[in-house]
Amino acid sequence: MMKRLLLIASIIALPAIAAAEPSAADLKARQSELQKKLAGEGFFVVVEAPFVVITDEGGAALSRRVNFVKWTTGLIEKDFFSKRPDKLIEIWLFKNERTYRKGAKKYFNDEPETPYGYYSPEDDALIMNIGPGAGTLSHELVHPYMEANFPNVPAWFNEGLASLYEQPREREGHMWGTTNWRLPGLQSMIRNKSIPPVAKMLETTRDGFYEASYDSYAYARFLVQYLQDHGKLRDFYKKFAADTKDRTGKTALAAVVGMELDAFDVVFRKWAGALRR
Ligand SMILES: [Zn+2]
Repeated sequence: MMKRLLLIASIIALPAIAAAEPSAADLKARQSELQKKLAGEGFFVVVEAPFVVITDEGGAALSRRVNFVKWTTGLIEKDFFSKRPDKLIEIWLFKNERTYRKGAKKYFNDEPETPYGYYSPEDDALIMNIGPGAGTLSHELVHPYMEANFPNVPAWFNEGLASLYEQPREREGHMWGTTNWRLPGLQSMIRNKSIPPVAKMLETTRDGFYEASYDSYAYARFLVQYLQDHGKLRDFYKKFAADTKDRTGKTALAAVVGMELDAFDVVFRKWAGALRR
């Protein structure tokens, strides 16, 4: 989920400042600062470079979460992202929806639209309810990396890749997104013919994507899963990110699937219709 980027994307056109990923000293300083600020409020503050993790879950859950951050970032850096976020990002993990909503309000003055979590580029923070599981965390971690590596990425690919990793596994040393709860939504749209052709979805603007009349997350997610399952995702990403002319991904997609997108539309729907969870 990344609604809030909508608000700032149109306002911010900052000149490139020589930004770099946070140093060990920066992370340590932020950790101490947060420990002081949150003293007595029941939080643990842990450095897991390039992030600082703040959580109200202690004990075994704490190390499990921190290890999950390390595992996810290690794998997505290896396959997609050569650059780490060039600013210090805090990862706030709340143990349930109640503490998440309370914390979002108290520390960020936010009233989240989603019960799961979100990335707030203006606060340099991922803020989430980790209660339902770590899938939200692996989803949200993709966003700051995408921001650093592919700054003008269209929403469909940003959310498609993030959603691919909502139920992640490791396969032969790579991150692997397994078919998840978004499948029934996609399959019923295919049956009802309520989604536009692939080429049209790729052309959606940011608002068009987030405010689509169909489940654009499910559509984008499974398009990215198609590429993953056919061994074409990394090749697609490389081609797409390097293509300065076509910002929709249409050219890169047609090239990696080896056919015109009209023909691919039929292939994709057939593949997605036959998927099982
Ligand atoms: Zn998202």
